[in-house]
Amino acid sequence: MRKKPTPFIFINSAMSADGKISTRKRKQVRISGALDFERVDILKASSDAIMVGIGTILSDNPSLTVKSDERKKQRIESGIDENPVRIVVDSHARTPLDADILKKGKGVRIIAVSDAAPAERVAKLSKYAKIITAGSGQVDLVKLMGILKEMGIERLMVEGGATLNWALIEAGLVDEIYTFIGNIIIGGTTAPTLADGDGFGERDEVCELRLIDAEMIEEGVLLRWAVK
Ligand code: NAP
Repeated sequence: MRKKPTPFIFINSAMSADGKISTRKRKQVRISGALDFERVDILKASSDAIMVGIGTILSDNPSLTVKSDERKKQRIESGIDENPVRIVVDSHARTPLDADILKKGKGVRIIAVSDAAPAERVAKLSKYAKIITAGSGQVDLVKLMGILKEMGIERLMVEGGATLNWALIEAGLVDEIYTFIGNIIIGGTTAPTLADGDGFGERDEVCELRLIDAEMIEEGVLLRWAVK
């Protein structure tokens, strides 16, 4: 296995049959069913930390908590918080103070900002979350991952969205990708996909994957990929 000064990083994403992770309105849509929700909760409970981009906080307002009481109990019994460390990648400290991620559930929150974040927003957020400053302009993801590793985060789950997924893939930071493909078509040129951003321009630049597993779940399919 590749040795790197970052956690083991995996993306988990649910997409439509045409590769969209949301609609053009960028609001959360149900793509998978109860069995897949359970799978995601197990993955979450097995992770040291879970990360999203600020775009996902502003569109979906997720709490990112472990949902099963049994799994929360198991985490507490093994001496850790009931929820993984919850991290928002938010260069300009735009996370709303009443966001569910800051209000719901117990455990540590981290807002990763850049030097460009207004000091007064950072001061307000620091009452609810630990602040990590990495990079100027946008968050420096490589630097951030190094800091998280030093803090003891070994296994990091990324729950989107499209822009953060792309940036992590482009930076070569992602180890594995889980994609649940559901039985709907969303369409739309502006609807987000698993990885948006600029995209690669040439075939020899693309991110190559190795298929680890494929499993039918309800009316969809779960693919697990390793990044080569
Ligand atoms: P996003 O990926 O959640 O967040 C993107 C933002 O992260 C950027 O705009 C940027 O804002 C910030 N960021 C900070 N440092 C960055 C860096 N180095 N590189 C890239 N971004 C950085 O937002 P999104 O692309 O708009 O995705 C949100 C959509 O995805 C929503 O429609 C949501 O419903 C959907 N979603 C779907 C799933 C699924 O599994 N189906 C899961 C999650 C989200 P700043 O520059 O201001 O920091």
